[in-house]
Amino acid sequence: MACRSPNRRPKPNLSRRRRTYQSKPNCSMTDYSIRRFHKYSDDELIVAVREVSRKLNTDFIAGQTFQEHSGISTHTIERRFGTWKKFCDKAGLKPAYTRGTTRNDLLDNLHEVWQKLGRQPRAKEMKQPLSAISCSAYLKEFGNWYDTCLQLLSWKSGAPAKEIEQETKRTPTTNGGADKHRSPRPITLSLRYEVLKRGNFKCVKCGRSPANEVGVRLHVNHRIPGSKAGETELSNLQTTCSDCNLGKGNRHSG
Ligand SMILES: [Zn+2]
Repeated sequence: MACRSPNRRPKPNLSRRRRTYQSKPNCSMTDYSIRRFHKYSDDELIVAVREVSRKLNTDFIAGQTFQEHSGISTHTIERRFGTWKKFCDKAGLKPAYTRGTTRNDLLDNLHEVWQKLGRQPRAKEMKQPLSAISCSAYLKEFGNWYDTCLQLLSWKSGAPAKEIEQETKRTPTTNGGADKHRSPRPITLSLRYEVLKRGNFKCVKCGRSPANEVGVRLHVNHRIPGSKAGETELSNLQTTCSDCNLGKGNRHSG
């Protein structure tokens, strides 16, 4: 290695030619970064992401990719559109996720896959084209697949995951087997989701939902309780909020 002189001389003034900004190689697209102080309209942002999609020849765009190619921060998108998915929906594209995927993005995507399949997705099914987010991202965030699904149920019902987990494991009270119970069973995550979905993720009595009101907790409960030979099946289950559920006791509600 050649030795450098320890006496550094000040750099000579660069010539006008050398100071000229060079455009980035392979940068045939509109360079949005030079307009970073300009407030983009929603339409301009949509045009920008479509341009990235066209250039990369894919409908699946991640926020990170968009930011790298357009120079527009994903924070701008979140501020304007709420989530990356909502932005992609508006642009007619599909969201892909990389580093920086939020918990809500993960749950939102799982909810969509669950709806598409009409049943609880299996971990190995979480891949494109069905799922924009891979299974590994879920396992990294939530630990295992059961907890992932549990978190979705908690998110959609506004109830703590621990409470749902306990209810999932608890066998309904019976009168000691003297009734006509076929099989008193706890409410599984999959069945719970079905009941919530049938009720449009709202309380069937007052219509309140955690999606548009903070603090609302939805419970999935038996219309005819287990102690009165009510079965754990879709037709005997309903979604009610904490308030409507209070004081119900063993009365028949339906
Ligand atoms: Zn209610």
